[in-house]
Amino acid sequence: MKAWESKIRKVVPYVPGEQPNQKNMIKLNTNENPYPPSLLVEQAKVDMDAASLRLYPDPAASELVKAIADRYELEENQVFVGVGSDDVLAMAFLTFFNSDKPILFPDITYSFYDVWAELFRIPYQVQPLDENFRIQASDYAKENGGVIFPNPNAPTGVLVDLDFIEGILKKNTDVIVIIDEAYIDFGGVSALPLIKKYENLLIVQTFSKSRSLAGLRIGYAMGNAALIQAMQDVKYSFNSYTMNLFTIRLGVAAIQDQAYFEKTREKVIATRERTKVRLKELGFSFQDSMTNFIFATHKNYLAKDIFEYLKTKQIYVRYFSSNLRIQNYLRISIGTDQEMDTLIAVLKEYLR
Ligand SMILES: *Cc1c(COP(=O)(O)O)cnc(C)c1O
Repeated sequence: MKAWESKIRKVVPYVPGEQPNQKNMIKLNTNENPYPPSLLVEQAKVDMDAASLRLYPDPAASELVKAIADRYELEENQVFVGVGSDDVLAMAFLTFFNSDKPILFPDITYSFYDVWAELFRIPYQVQPLDENFRIQASDYAKENGGVIFPNPNAPTGVLVDLDFIEGILKKNTDVIVIIDEAYIDFGGVSALPLIKKYENLLIVQTFSKSRSLAGLRIGYAMGNAALIQAMQDVKYSFNSYTMNLFTIRLGVAAIQDQAYFEKTREKVIATRERTKVRLKELGFSFQDSMTNFIFATHKNYLAKDIFEYLKTKQIYVRYFSSNLRIQNYLRISIGTDQEMDTLIAVLKEYLR
């Protein structure tokens, strides 16, 4: 090894799902929304002109912050926006997890958490889910440097209720507790109202899934003003202009179309429910999902083999090979009814 090599920060990066780009493929591997964004977004895009890009964007992204604050009946100083919730979560890790004690999160969860912890050199300890993929509240009652988990959890799809979250908050008054609500709009109840009672609670959401805007990159955090201010101070110490002008404008348009949001999320939920029935008929089992994906295993066939077979039919689902506990599971995103019909038909062929 050369001397300079020892000075390189070595990290094992997060591996996102594949982004194949084939005609007629059915892409059910990264939990994108099968429906296009609101027509208000389309219109806002048409209304944009390239000349406005001469100037720096508003570093505070105030228009977007205000639109989100209005939507959730918050003050503007209770909202932080970033380049997808990945950016927001990374900023939150950097801002809030600064203890010698380990932060806590589940062993089966969003696989970016341990990557950020390693990158920022934050000690962490994973807490095993039980055999039904439930979080054990008692695991989060010990001393720690902070707590984070998604609700519903990913990739399990399992939702906890607000009493459960409040139980965790009551045991963790001295650290920041982050709830990653990337999938909350598909049937869960948001813990947002709890920020009034628990000033150490941060809620993180995204436009990527329920608002059909994964390609635009908008995420946001909501919490008390002191938390938001602290995140802003870190952000301005790193890169002031994270939100570009187009994203701000299109994001405002997206959040203003509540009717379209309701319509598409209800369609995804309806498709999910009928897909659950049909997957069960085919011999799959899974915990009840409250997200836009189903995390399923089959009693007679290996997940890896099903995954490979589906790929030959241009159907992409997600398979996590590295975590031993979930090696025989597939995460199947909810597409349109038609896409799910094709998936079921192809599975039927394979499994007979
Ligand atoms: C998709 C996802 C995110 C990140 O989404 P962005 O596209 O960066 O907003 C964060 N957390 C979980 C659990 C997710 O599944």
